Amino acid sequence: MPFIEVPEKIQRMMEIMEASGHEVCAVGGCVRDSLLGRPIHDWDLCTSAQPGETEETFAQAGLETIPTGKKHGTVTVLWNKEPVEITTYRIDGAYTDSRRPDSVTFTRRLEEDLSRRDFTINAMACGRDGQVIDLFGGQRDLAEKRIRCVGDPRLRFEEDALRILRALRFAARLDFRLEEKTAEAVTEERGRLSLISPERIWSELCGLLSGGYAGAMVREFYPVLSAALGIEPGDRESWTAASEGFETPRPDDWSDWAFMTARFALLLWKGALSGGSGGGERARELCVALRTDKASRSRVSLLVEQAAEQLPQTTPQLRRRMADFGPEAVSQLIFLWEAGRVVTPEAAAWLRAQEKEILRRGDCIGIGQLAVGGKELQEAGISAGPQVGWILRGMLDAVMEETVPNEREALLQWAARKYQ
Ligand code: ATP
Ligand code: MG
Repeated sequence: MPFIEVPEKIQRMMEIMEASGHEVCAVGGCVRDSLLGRPIHDWDLCTSAQPGETEETFAQAGLETIPTGKKHGTVTVLWNKEPVEITTYRIDGAYTDSRRPDSVTFTRRLEEDLSRRDFTINAMACGRDGQVIDLFGGQRDLAEKRIRCVGDPRLRFEEDALRILRALRFAARLDFRLEEKTAEAVTEERGRLSLISPERIWSELCGLLSGGYAGAMVREFYPVLSAALGIEPGDRESWTAASEGFETPRPDDWSDWAFMTARFALLLWKGALSGGSGGGERARELCVALRTDKASRSRVSLLVEQAAEQLPQTTPQLRRRMADFGPEAVSQLIFLWEAGRVVTPEAAAWLRAQEKEILRRGDCIGIGQLAVGGKELQEAGISAGPQVGWILRGMLDAVMEETVPNEREALLQWAARKYQ
């Protein structure tokens, strides 16, 4: 019998509920990730108690509660200031808009709560003793690496179309495959994604894109991704090319955001927009439609625009790009050129090595790094005004091209020769 190690604090909370005569278990992601041996983000509890009863029980035990989503049954309990959510067993009412149930009803039966959950691997619970409650074959699907809807996949996606993207996201992150009927339904019901709010789509896309196995999802389910982006799917070859780019490894020192935006740029550049002209502008429009945050929008459109430009061939040209777009964006561009097969892995490695050297040496790639500033120029007799900026920019170019060393005297002489 599989057995889950429930953390001490969660066990204590469960004890409190049980002592008041309520049924309580851990449910969803924490059970799934425990069985997979993966790190667990949150322990979510569910209970037969009504939200008011939950509040009362914890209040009597001297714990603070917050009625976070009381209408939907969720109460947050603070345990040593750490929040734990506990939700009353629910049955979702009818779905008429493919988004949210029209109403929710509380129930005293765990089976009913589990059967409203999206996938078998997410529909398992466990008690205080760590015994797994698995009514839909979730453990078998975990062992066979399968995403399978609880119940009829078409109905489940008709109820809530966001589940379509959740299926792809879990598969992309866990290296799972979609069970046959679930896979068919994902494709058939993809049109309903237009009913889902852009913010929720973007949030699922972010999770999917950074998944270790996202490439397979892009290859197999590009019509679904196109529907999520609100565009026509275009040709299979482009999407296959994009999916191959997902094999390019993530550089060690990148943030999650850098990796996610680079992959999204790759998906748009090679797949969704398949290298057509005006890519940067079209990428920006797609980001606006998805209501992404501003930083992601600017970065993704910059990357799509610049991916199609001439490559830097020399160290000075590389410095120029780093000065124009910043080191992080240039590192992402090198990734894109490699992933998009614009350069060989060897050429990409050369560019990356140069980029590292530029940063390690502290080469000047910004006006702020010049050995002279506006003040020194004025002391040297140049009057205040826009010319100060021009001269500094001219100096930066000359330093990056190595026509003058980044040293005070040399720069001032160079400026005197050039501008007087
Ligand atoms: P993650 O690690 O991504 O947080 P999770 O399984 O905890 O994974 P959540 O989105 O936090 O996912 O949802 C918690 C649980 O609620 C899920 O495991 C699932 O049982 C259920 N659930 C969430 N969203 C839906 C949905 N749209 N339809 C049905 N059940 C859902
Ligand atoms: Mg979760």
